[in-house]
Amino acid sequence: MILLNPQEHSRFYPDHLSREIMRKTIAFFENKGLEKIKADDRARTWYADFLEFVRDEEIFATLLTPAEYGENLDQRWDTWRNCEFNEILGFYGLAYWYTWQVSILGLGPIWMSNNETLKRQAAQLLKQGHVFAFGLSERTHGADIYATEMSLTPQPDDSYRANGSKYYIGNANLAPMTSTFGKIAGSDEYVFFIADYRNKDFELVKNITASQNYVAEYTLHDYPISASEIMSRGQDAWDAGLNTINLGKYNLGWASIGICTHALYEAIHHAANRSLYNMYVTDFPHVQQMFVDAYTRLVAMKLFTLRAADYMRAASLEDRRYLLYNPIVKMKVTTQGEQVINLLWDVIAAKGFEKDTFFEMAARDIRALPKLEGTVHVNIALIVKFMSNYFFNPAVYPTLARQDQPKNDDFLFNQGPASGLGKIRFHDYDPIFDDFDTPNINIFKKQIAVFKIFLAMASPDKVQRKDIDFLLALGEIFTLVVYAQLLLENAPIYSLREDLLDQIFDFMVRDFSEHALNIYSKSISTSQQMDYCLHMIHKSFVDSNRFEVVWREVHALKDVYTASLQKCADEK
Ligand SMILES: Cc1cc2nc3c(=O)[nH]c(=O)nc-3n(C[C@H](O)[C@H](O)[C@H](O)COP(=O)(O)OP(=O)(O)OC[C@H]3O[C@@H](n4cnc5c(N)ncnc54)[C@H](O)[C@@H]3O)c2cc1C
Repeated sequence: MILLNPQEHSRFYPDHLSREIMRKTIAFFENKGLEKIKADDRARTWYADFLEFVRDEEIFATLLTPAEYGENLDQRWDTWRNCEFNEILGFYGLAYWYTWQVSILGLGPIWMSNNETLKRQAAQLLKQGHVFAFGLSERTHGADIYATEMSLTPQPDDSYRANGSKYYIGNANLAPMTSTFGKIAGSDEYVFFIADYRNKDFELVKNITASQNYVAEYTLHDYPISASEIMSRGQDAWDAGLNTINLGKYNLGWASIGICTHALYEAIHHAANRSLYNMYVTDFPHVQQMFVDAYTRLVAMKLFTLRAADYMRAASLEDRRYLLYNPIVKMKVTTQGEQVINLLWDVIAAKGFEKDTFFEMAARDIRALPKLEGTVHVNIALIVKFMSNYFFNPAVYPTLARQDQPKNDDFLFNQGPASGLGKIRFHDYDPIFDDFDTPNINIFKKQIAVFKIFLAMASPDKVQRKDIDFLLALGEIFTLVVYAQLLLENAPIYSLREDLLDQIFDFMVRDFSEHALNIYSKSISTSQQMDYCLHMIHKSFVDSNRFEVVWREVHALKDVYTASLQKCADEK
């Protein structure tokens, strides 16, 4: 089974310690139990127990120290295992995932810098069990980081004084190294430096959110910064910010997958055991449809996200395809997660409000992920930059196998300039689709062919190219094509059955049609474009046998994950 089942943990690891980390983390949460997880969530209790566990087991030190700064071969930045660690944290609670995620972001500019002293210091702090923070956002500027106001004023002795505020900064309440982004005063030169919450000139203003996390506003008042506390300046600092987000945004997909997997187990368990009018809720045809849609969307999310990791691990200055795939994980997988929860909630209805359920938390937290690390729109605006090369200028790359080796992902901290996106080329998607011959994949191929003609023959004019609303609509279809391509690449690697794959493309065809209708309906679409849109609209191929097989697979999940956590809720 491709979905995580904590009670039968079976993921492949080439080494013992990686598997042990996953098992121990699962055991930590299983022992804590849903009841306590939920009580802590309601009371917004600081997760000291989790951080103690992480410290005692040296988990962040093992997973987040690059090999060069580690003490042994087990310490390495290995995306294969970080994927599942992300997923497990999402499965049990987004708050636990968030403290790990912002540590990753905080470490990004440190590992990317040339400041060896700060790197050694970070490795030491990781070993001691500390967390890290990433101070990029400011209250008044949001996505517009060009407008950053945090500033470093040079002093006569070559040191600096930092002044300014940061907003929405997770872990800043206790991270001894908060990577802080600013500018050298009186110039447009960017700079990344370290701030420590224990310094008297560091004011921890407040926790902005009402959650278990501490998402801080902090202000630096004439905070002294020595040259040795600076990680990068100028272009390097800018690149470090963007390159950190490039790799950090990938994790958001896993948080969604973890949340949805847990919510699915809970929802199917509830619905399959609930009897109304002398029948089970799962006997309703519309309920079966919603479950099959939720399940197939979740499997697709996981296939795509796993495959995107292969490209991230294989990336180099010559192969930067991950810069398209990671924003798609960010905006597509996380918004698919919202759809999965919507579908499941329509089935379990009132149950989703109960304080003892995981679902009640999932329904709230799933909304966060599309909004972090740049909004959905910011990411689609980024994605459309790749569209022309993707469709019209493919390049040849060697075939990429699954990247599950126990190696350090060196390139992630040497990504080079964050610019030049329009020059990145992709392997031809056609041969990937041609390897498959199922009814819905064949319909999907036709839809892609029409979209490509649309782009070539009715490409957006000057006004349309300036209209972000119109570009976003095009970006949704482009995203869907890339999404389909990568999940198909992974289908044989994960031995996905053809019926399940075709059922995935049942919703993909419907989504394609919906996006085509959206472009059709735009106020500025031309009659030629509208005509192409109509040719992209198709009904997916109906096959009741295929549906039945997949439905039985979903229904069989009803007691897969019920033991300790679920039992707690049931026994109430
Ligand atoms: C719980 C939480 C935790 C966070 N943790 C951190 C953290 O640890 N460190 C950190 O630095 N930040 C953090 N953030 C900040 C987060 O990354 C920003 O909220 C996010 O980048 C979006 O900024 P904004 O919400 O201010 O949206 P705004 O920048 O105000 O954008 C509003 C809207 O404008 C549009 N828009 C803006 N720019 C573009 C564009 N280029 N193209 C197209 N449309 C655009 C979009 O529609 C967008 O939705 C956190 C936020 C939250 C809520």
